[in-house]
Amino acid sequence: MTKIKFELDGQQVEANAGETIWQVAKRHQKEIPHLCYSPEPDYRPDGNCRACMVEIEGERVLAASCKRTPSVGMKVKTESARAVAAQKMVMELLVADQPARETSHDPDSKFWHWAEKVEVTESRFPAAERWQGDTSHPAMSVNLDACIQCGLCVRACREVQVNDVIGMAYRNAGAKIVFDFDDPMGESTCVACGECVQACPTGALMPSVMLDEKQTRVTYADKKVDSLCPFCGVGCQVTYQVKDEKVIYAEGRDGPANHNRLCVKGRFGFDYIHHPHRLTKPLVRLPNAKKDANDQVDPANPFTHFREASWDEALDIAAKGLVKIRDEKGVKALAGFGSAKGSNEEAYLFQKLVRTGFGSNNVDHCTRLCHASSVAALMEGLNSGAVSAPFAAAMDAEVIVVIGANPTVNHPVAATYLKNAAKRGAKLIVMDPRWQALSRHAWRHLAFKPGSDVAMLNAMLHTIITEGLTDQQYIAGYTEGFDELAERIKEFPPEKMEAICGIPAETLKEVARTYARSQASIIFWGMGISQHIHGTDNARCLIALALTTGQVGRPGTGLHPLRGQNNVQGASDAGLIPMFLPDYQPVGRTDLREPFEKLWHQDLDPVRGLTVVEIMNAIHAGQINGMYIEGENPAMSDPDLQHARHALAMLDHLVVQDLFVTETAFHADVILPASAFAEKSGTFTNTDRRVQIAREVIRPPGDARQDLWIIQEIGKRMGLPWNYDGPADVFTEMTQVMPSLKNITWERLVREGAVTYPVDDPNKPGNEIIFTTGFPTESGRGKIVPAKVIAPDEVPDAEYPMVLSTGRVLEHWHTGSMTRRASVLDQIEPEAVAFMSPKDMRKLSVWPGDFIKLETRRGAVEVKVRSDRDVPENMVFMPFCYAEAAANLLTNPALDPFGKIPEFKFCAVRAEKLALQSAAE
Ligand code: SF4
Repeated sequence: MTKIKFELDGQQVEANAGETIWQVAKRHQKEIPHLCYSPEPDYRPDGNCRACMVEIEGERVLAASCKRTPSVGMKVKTESARAVAAQKMVMELLVADQPARETSHDPDSKFWHWAEKVEVTESRFPAAERWQGDTSHPAMSVNLDACIQCGLCVRACREVQVNDVIGMAYRNAGAKIVFDFDDPMGESTCVACGECVQACPTGALMPSVMLDEKQTRVTYADKKVDSLCPFCGVGCQVTYQVKDEKVIYAEGRDGPANHNRLCVKGRFGFDYIHHPHRLTKPLVRLPNAKKDANDQVDPANPFTHFREASWDEALDIAAKGLVKIRDEKGVKALAGFGSAKGSNEEAYLFQKLVRTGFGSNNVDHCTRLCHASSVAALMEGLNSGAVSAPFAAAMDAEVIVVIGANPTVNHPVAATYLKNAAKRGAKLIVMDPRWQALSRHAWRHLAFKPGSDVAMLNAMLHTIITEGLTDQQYIAGYTEGFDELAERIKEFPPEKMEAICGIPAETLKEVARTYARSQASIIFWGMGISQHIHGTDNARCLIALALTTGQVGRPGTGLHPLRGQNNVQGASDAGLIPMFLPDYQPVGRTDLREPFEKLWHQDLDPVRGLTVVEIMNAIHAGQINGMYIEGENPAMSDPDLQHARHALAMLDHLVVQDLFVTETAFHADVILPASAFAEKSGTFTNTDRRVQIAREVIRPPGDARQDLWIIQEIGKRMGLPWNYDGPADVFTEMTQVMPSLKNITWERLVREGAVTYPVDDPNKPGNEIIFTTGFPTESGRGKIVPAKVIAPDEVPDAEYPMVLSTGRVLEHWHTGSMTRRASVLDQIEPEAVAFMSPKDMRKLSVWPGDFIKLETRRGAVEVKVRSDRDVPENMVFMPFCYAEAAANLLTNPALDPFGKIPEFKFCAVRAEKLALQSAAE
């Protein structure tokens, strides 16, 4: 690489190509003031505050060092009298408009840091008129009197997170940052990612929680601890600020997945851990508190039905109940749900407990409800359930397909990279019956008819094959099954599929050609693909698209099922699934079972266990009588909740380990108070296959205990000879039976923070992109499996004429057990809503905010309706996080035959106006 030699303050230095004077100076330990420039996080320099002015010999005017790149022989002076005078003058002009430091919003800001450093904390110039503050947002305060119009927040909002809410408006002295059309922040389209707050150097944008009523900072952290976000599979790295053993703020860190970015949940959703209803003592069901499936948790007093107990007593009751059922009714009469929110070590230990302590493979977790069908198709075709490339690979892609996913809501930080890629020219193709925020950045949005994914994708495959757009060399070298696909696909010409999927044949062909012909195409998918009875077929089509065109195994290509919960990848890897031992080793294979039997000193059940929904059915059938549930909430997440809640109430013995009396814990015999994410150390694997370390930020409250300790204590009391000395010990055992963890040690994770598997060498980084030279199948080839078009299990009819689809909203996660107890998140989205098109609302004669009744063959809920143009006509969309209007009372439990995943994304529903006062009347 060509180096540029130049002189910096009399010293000969070299700049790399593209390096600015400011960056070279920093490398040589010279500090130049800077306000509108942010090297960490690395924002585009703008050169507008002029605090970083330097003198260049021979040039009439000074230069902004943050933007100016040196040329050969240039002589730069950062400390000359002219340069320093300019730096001081800029600061003095800016100080003039600020509130005095002692009354400023953030006396500890970067602005005051530099004012002090250049020794200008007062000004001779008159102050400008003060702006009114804006406290309309629950999470952030806007104090424009401290704004220096550096534009960092605008770049944060428009260029980094690409939310396009903040802009500069008005002229001259009236110029200011505005939200949308100069709306109050709380009424704007702000999604509260907080990137602007993190970027602001002055305190003009601040987290409200740090300010008093005069908008002056009163809260300062005692300590800062690096850990991770507890919510989605993106796996953002976070630094938590702690005061008096309470988390007070979360900042994004420069992790490989998020590069300092966070979303509203990660930044403002942490205080659920301090909620007054947090469990701090073990609870045991009162003798007279009968279990009743129709009874609900009392939100004001969730602890009715229970009494406090000591740990010894609670653990004894918990374990004895399980042992009794195992010994009297047999090993198959017990089952366990582990948690995708827990660490890898917890997941490993939990499945080991079920397999060795209970004696069967009846262990599962929420992957069954999100990506089980994706994993089934990936295992069948590629013998690997993980992504082939990280989501940031989108930055190298020419074409990005997002299908059945809503990343701005479910994986917001991953979505920022997709938007960044679209901005730099990648063609983004969104395929979803609902429109979404990402559609605005899309080259094409294919709003296909709900449930017709296979028809649409097969039409694309038909185009690719019949028009000769396949990569024959790739097919010959790396795949099998192409001929069968080529034969079967003849049934699915775009002209015929158009009527089924609702997308014009020409559009289907155009999109297929664009995907196939590009140098690098990548596919992202979510639960819109997987949560169908044809979920496995949907994923098979996506795999076939990638394999027939060779769009996998290279930079910018690949297959990426966006993983839901923070550790659903790790929990699945660790064996929290009924058909696989850790690392997807089938329980039925003697050769693969033996190493576990040797290590665990016990024979293992060779028969696959029951899945989440099958376990509920088995309880109804009287085959399962006892359960241990760690951190899962099937009383909210299962399809057909009536059925699930009855099942839980029918159990002879239910042990629940959680943070709160959840809807599931309400049916328990014993509740064990567990540790929240911020209260434990462990490893977590994000959607990119990145194993990351989380650190204990604060201690669990009261007598709540670490989950790993609790699982171990249950194991010991069930007769297992366990003596693990914390997560590092468990992780070391995992590395002995999980080839995926080869070359990853606990020490390495502590040192590096994150390592992506597979790793070839202890001293080399992991492989971000896999399948570069074939697949880990027996033949080394990827298997193409054709899919046929089948209708959803329950289609609309005269009685139930609309389609119900369920999912998430940005602010709430999964069943809401954490986010609905996070004060900011619950303030932003406080009540249950269903989303409907304005046209359907007119048909029902309802206004936004009116109550409607939604009814399916399984149940009914009453809920407020919200108008949403993104929802197609004849569809209702409902988030499943609201206990008071639980969407899963309505959903259809029909299963995909391979992944055993329920059809959450499609069932027939009837909507009617409730005879209540209309909001508009
Ligand atoms: Fe947390 Fe996901 Fe948001 Fe990142 S994108 S802050 S991991 S919820």
